[in-house]
Amino acid sequence: MQIFKFGGASIKNAEAVKRAADIIKNHYRDHLLVVFSAMGKTTNALENVCATCKSNREAGLQLFKGIINEHIEICSRLFESNDPVFQAVKSIEKEISIILTDKPTADFSYFYDQVVPAGELLSTTILSRYLKMTGCENEWFDARKLIKTDYRFTKATVDQTKTTLQINSKLKPYFQSPIRLAVTQGFISGADPLNPTTLGREGSDYSAALFAYFLDAESVTIWKDVKGVLNADPKYFQNTRLLKNISYREAIELAYYGASIIHPKTIQPLQEKKIPLYVKSFNKPENEGSVIDENTAEDDAVPSFIFKKNRRLISISPADFSFVAETGLSRIFELLGKYAITVDIMQNSAINFSICVDDQHPNIEKLTEALKKEYRILYNSELELLTVRHYDQATIHELTRDKNVVLEQRTRNTTRMLLSNHAPAGNL
Ligand code: ASP
Ligand code: MG
Repeated sequence: MQIFKFGGASIKNAEAVKRAADIIKNHYRDHLLVVFSAMGKTTNALENVCATCKSNREAGLQLFKGIINEHIEICSRLFESNDPVFQAVKSIEKEISIILTDKPTADFSYFYDQVVPAGELLSTTILSRYLKMTGCENEWFDARKLIKTDYRFTKATVDQTKTTLQINSKLKPYFQSPIRLAVTQGFISGADPLNPTTLGREGSDYSAALFAYFLDAESVTIWKDVKGVLNADPKYFQNTRLLKNISYREAIELAYYGASIIHPKTIQPLQEKKIPLYVKSFNKPENEGSVIDENTAEDDAVPSFIFKKNRRLISISPADFSFVAETGLSRIFELLGKYAITVDIMQNSAINFSICVDDQHPNIEKLTEALKKEYRILYNSELELLTVRHYDQATIHELTRDKNVVLEQRTRNTTRMLLSNHAPAGNL
């Protein structure tokens, strides 16, 4: 059993769907489950629909209609005009339009999880039908009925027992026959039949890993628009290097520090069952790509560079000039928890406590205001956080040459620097 996952960028138009179908046909031997995310930027567009509906239902519906039309346009490039796919798209449109018109938006996360899955429902409906039309028999599965979760809408936690039950009773029997192909959605899940949930943005990698875990798959392959896992983001660095073999542990570290190649939650389920994860190029499927597995391979020691833009450093000190520890750091963390803001780096001195957070987090101003009520606050915006794994002094020197290093932390393998400069970090 293999699991293939295709992300938004690799299925953004009709050409891309054709290419994904070719990759599937060329690699499919006996049992394959394909996990699709929404096409292109559909999820962002659906988030916009939800936000618009809060104040103006009609405008929200219009935006949604636009998304449907884009999918119909893609279908018209792939299918004859009388193909059943058009009916299938219409019925998704109908189902979601009812929600957009009728459901209260007061519990926004609940509303969001009813609407946003439309992106994955549409993309998988199109793929499944396209595969069938081109002679590749397959079955479409609704992931909301397979991946079972709690009720934490928009960031649901998987219920292992319930998911095992669903997968064992619905998906495994399908794979009893010697040759079988199934198509399902990433990112979406369900608490119960009336309460769909989602696993968090960019969660389809995680979905693929979950399916692999519950199905005891032999491997997971993520098809990407890059050649594999690189040691730095080519958007910011030239001369990037392909990491051919990475250990699970190193992959978790890289994802934690913000490498955008795989969703951070993806590795753990795979590691537990020792299922290798391949990251391969969608454009050059014959190329080797990267593999993340148990090996403690030599690539682990290659310097990796992770760049996070738009950071804010907030310095917090007690209003009465006492030591910050006396006022209780727990209060600061309580506020961070309340506004769901994660800390990239923190540092304390006798009289202040500094945290580095996302400058563009939707709750950042609320957090800053709340802190201001209780503490003296200073902050610095538009900083960049550079993490270097397996650093060497020469590269660090090169990367920080024209920068102002606002804060720095080093451990044996990792150095993290908060830089106040907008310029790209330079060549490797
Ligand atoms: N479509 C979802 C998103 O864009 C899930 C994913 O792409 O992994 O966040
Ligand atoms: Mg996506």
